[in-house]
Amino acid sequence: MRVTTVGTGTAAPSPGRVQAGHLVESGALRLLLDCGSGLAFRFAELGIDWVSITHLALSHFHADHVIELPTLLTAWRYGTLPPRSAPLEIIGPVGTAGVVDRLSEAAGVKYREYGFPVTVRELAPGERATIGDGAAIECRSVPHTPESVAYSIEADGRRIVYSGDTGYDEGLARWAAGCDLFLCECSLPASMAVATHLTPEQVAALAAIASPKLLALTHLYPPVEQTDIRAVIAAHHPGPVVVAHDGWSTEL
Ligand SMILES: [Zn+2]
Ligand SMILES: [Zn+2]
Repeated sequence: MRVTTVGTGTAAPSPGRVQAGHLVESGALRLLLDCGSGLAFRFAELGIDWVSITHLALSHFHADHVIELPTLLTAWRYGTLPPRSAPLEIIGPVGTAGVVDRLSEAAGVKYREYGFPVTVRELAPGERATIGDGAAIECRSVPHTPESVAYSIEADGRRIVYSGDTGYDEGLARWAAGCDLFLCECSLPASMAVATHLTPEQVAALAAIASPKLLALTHLYPPVEQTDIRAVIAAHHPGPVVVAHDGWSTEL
């Protein structure tokens, strides 16, 4: 399984990080986790094949996680030759179908008229779905917005857990226990802590419970990058940690 953090940024425009989006590849599965602004152009910049994405899973409906969808739908229809014909499955919390409808309509074309089949599968918290080539996805509610979920993806005998946006939740850490990769948000420094995002100290505490084989940090607001994130994490969690950047990739 290969995981690439394509967009590691947030709602704050950054010269180095576009908004949220991560690609999980395993066999024929090419799953994009979240779809924030700038992602399509980052795909092109990094030379990543965006045409053959098979699935998109949305963690919640904040714009920095969904707003690039009309751009990608348009690119699949008008930005590649021949136009996309392969089906796309969009996975997300309850309410995803309405969000996809409204985003597509705002862009001028309903997604059902894009020339390739688009299906939406809404998952209730705790629900598990197979997503092709032996892979499975499962979601869990996290404290951020009412619909927000984290995802666990299993494929190739490996498991990754993606936090989406979340506040501190030890249940999430227990759910992530022993995973091969914990891709976790790390939004704000302790001086700016809020209940709906994580500080490096809180990420370290979660990682100490989850003991992932690899911890990768994403969703970094500019102020948290002014702090020594690695030192804070290392003080509480002895395992390997990566502060991911746009284009960071790992083979699990
Ligand atoms: Zn966000
Ligand atoms: Zn959010």
